[in-house]
Amino acid sequence: MNVSFLGLGAIGAPMARHLAKPPFSLAVWNRTKSRADAFGTETGARVAGSPADAVRGASVVITCLPTSHEVEALLDGPDGVLAGLAPQSLFIDCTSGDPATSRRIAARLGENGTAFMDAPVSGGVSGAQQGALTVMCGADEATFERARPVIEAFGKKIVRCGPVGAGDAVKAVNQALLGIHIWALSEGLVALSKAGISPRLALDVINASSGRSNVSQNLFTERVITRAFPRTFKLALMEKDVTIAAEFARENRVPSPLIQSVADLLRVARQALGEDADHVETVKLLEEWAGCEVQG
Ligand code: NDP
Repeated sequence: MNVSFLGLGAIGAPMARHLAKPPFSLAVWNRTKSRADAFGTETGARVAGSPADAVRGASVVITCLPTSHEVEALLDGPDGVLAGLAPQSLFIDCTSGDPATSRRIAARLGENGTAFMDAPVSGGVSGAQQGALTVMCGADEATFERARPVIEAFGKKIVRCGPVGAGDAVKAVNQALLGIHIWALSEGLVALSKAGISPRLALDVINASSGRSNVSQNLFTERVITRAFPRTFKLALMEKDVTIAAEFARENRVPSPLIQSVADLLRVARQALGEDADHVETVKLLEEWAGCEVQG
């Protein structure tokens, strides 16, 4: 099966690696070509010079870009996806996108007879490397079943959440929870540290108690206490995700003061810490405000 993958970023590259072997024949495209060249050298995938070139001859196209807007922008123009896409193809967008833009992209591709599915993922870079991602899908049943064999190459829990846009919506709510947990635990641990209580000890207690979460059990234990702060998922992308969740709640006329507040706070953190900061580095802003570092 000929598959093309567009967007070899932090999560896209390890996802695409699973498709660079039989029964798939993979073509890749990345905006910064040197990254695609390195990927091609490592995996044997065909490296395309443009999106149109990448999708030529493919029955399935996968994108993994920062937002739905970059995906939409890739469609048109002489080198765009639509210039090379065969009718009746399948387009799977693994970007953590927004439902409204995904619906617009689906309609545009539909004019070409191409089926669309939003399929954002969760599980981080390590989950992608292990082929164990959760994949939240938005499509009709037939499109979902058509996509499943490809998604199974990197996904473990693969769920159709509803029609186009539903995968994006579930992902955004998941990300709101992630952002809320990171912000709340940052406030709590900085306060405990400033009061002279060991954050390592506090985390150990919390992780055996009702306030524990993935953030306390994994992220803060492995990245904050150790001061390792690896850069695997940008704060800028998490801020984008929580903003999508707030917008989604607003569109559905659901009051969401907490999600909106955290979206606003993450925008402040993004401005303060910069576009390359990792999402867990959010704690550094709280530390700066409090004048106290969380250290084991
Ligand atoms: P990165 O910033 O690491 O990579 C972004 C990718 O998009 C790169 O390939 C980049 O190309 C490309 N890109 C950026 N802007 C454009 C543009 N204008 N036109 C074309 N290509 C562009 O992001 P991630 O890989 O981390 O994230 C990708 C998506 O996956 C996001 O929606 C994110 O929210 C989601 N996600 C990320 C996770 C993670 O752990 N990292 C986990 C789950 C979801 P270039 O190399 O040229 O910069």
